[in-house]
Amino acid sequence: MFKALVVEKDEDGATRAEVQEVDEARLPEGDVTVAVEYSTLNYKDGLCIGPGGGLVRQYPHVPGVDFAGTVEASDDPRYSPGDKVVLTGWRVGETHWGGYAQKARVKADWLVPLPDALSTRDAMAVGTAGLTAMLALMALEAHGLEPGQGPVLVTGASGGVGSVATALLASNGYEVAAVTGRPETEDYLRDLGASRIVPRADLAETVKKPLESEVWAGCIDAVGGPMLARLLGQVKARGSVAAVGLAGGTELPAKVTPFLLRGVNLLGIDSVTEPYDARARAWDRIAAELPMDKLRAMIRPARLDDLPGLGAEILKGQVRGRVVVDVN
Ligand code: NDP
Repeated sequence: MFKALVVEKDEDGATRAEVQEVDEARLPEGDVTVAVEYSTLNYKDGLCIGPGGGLVRQYPHVPGVDFAGTVEASDDPRYSPGDKVVLTGWRVGETHWGGYAQKARVKADWLVPLPDALSTRDAMAVGTAGLTAMLALMALEAHGLEPGQGPVLVTGASGGVGSVATALLASNGYEVAAVTGRPETEDYLRDLGASRIVPRADLAETVKKPLESEVWAGCIDAVGGPMLARLLGQVKARGSVAAVGLAGGTELPAKVTPFLLRGVNLLGIDSVTEPYDARARAWDRIAAELPMDKLRAMIRPARLDDLPGLGAEILKGQVRGRVVVDVN
C-alpha cells in the first residue's frame, strides 16, 4: 500500500480529492516503478485536483504533472533500482496517474536521470516551469542568440517560467529586461539578475506601428496575446522570440511585417513532449547553470494533505514562489 492524493468523481460530475491508502496493484502499466520523493504544483495540477478542465479522462485519478524520486524496479536497461530520476510532462498527472503519490509507474522514455548536482527537492523547485525556461533559452541560442547582442526580454517575469528564465539568462551573461505587472517584485527580479524592469503597461497597448525601434536581442515570452504581438515589432533584426505561455491570452493580434522585413523568428516551445535527448541536455544545463540558492529561497514546502487547498489557490492566481510537495 502507498499514500496518494486520489480524485474521485460522483454521479453528478462533482469531484473530491483526498489522501488515501492505495494498493500497489492499482498502479498503471509502465516499465519503471519510482518511489516518489517530491512533486510540485502547476496550473494544470490545479485543474486536475479540481474538476479536471477536460484534462483527466478516467477516475479515480492521481494528479501530479511533475515528480522526482528513486527507481524501485525497472524493465528498461537505462534504469536500475536506486537511480535518481525526474519526470515532467507526457500527460502524466492528466491521462496517466501522476506524482501526488508515494509510488508512480511510467514509461522509461518519459523519465530522465537526475544530474548528480541536483537533489530530488531541487528538481521539483525547478519543475516543468524551469525546464521550459531552459528549453526556451536553448531554442534562442540555436537560432543565434549570444551574450553581448543587447537586452533579452522576459515577460511574466515574476511567474515560475519567467523567474527561472531571468536567473538562467543572467547566469549565462545576458543582459535581462524583466516585464512585470507587479512593481513590488522589482527587488526579487533584480536579485535573480534582471538589470532592467519593464512595467507591464509599457507593452500593454495593441500593435499600432508594425515596426518600432529595434530594442531586444531576443525574448522568452510567458504571456502571449497582445503583449507578444506588440514586442515582435521591437525585436532586433534576425532576433528570435521563444513563445512559451498564454498568461495574457491565446490570441495573437500581430502583423507579419517583423518576420518579413527584419527576419524575426517566432519559436514554439512544447516542454510536454520534448524528446528524451533534449530533456536530458536541458536538465544537465540546469544543474550546471541555475543558481540553486536563489531558487531554494523561493520554495514553499507542502504535503499531500495541503494540495486540495493549494490547487484552488493556484487557479485563482494566489500562489507565490515554487511549491515543493514532500509526498512522504
Ligand atoms: P505563472 O502563473 O507562475 O506566471 C505567469 C506570469 O505572467 C505572472 O506571474 C504574471 O507575471 C504574468 N501575467 C499574468 N497574467 C498576465 C496578463 N493578463 N498580462 C500580462 N502578464 C500576465 O505561470 P508559469 O510561469 O508557470 O507559466 C507561464 C505560462 O507558460 C502559462 O501560460 C503556462 O500555461 C505556460 N507554460 C507552458 C509550457 C510549455 O511547455 N509551453 C510549460 C509550462 C508553462 P508578472 O506578475 O511578473 O507580471
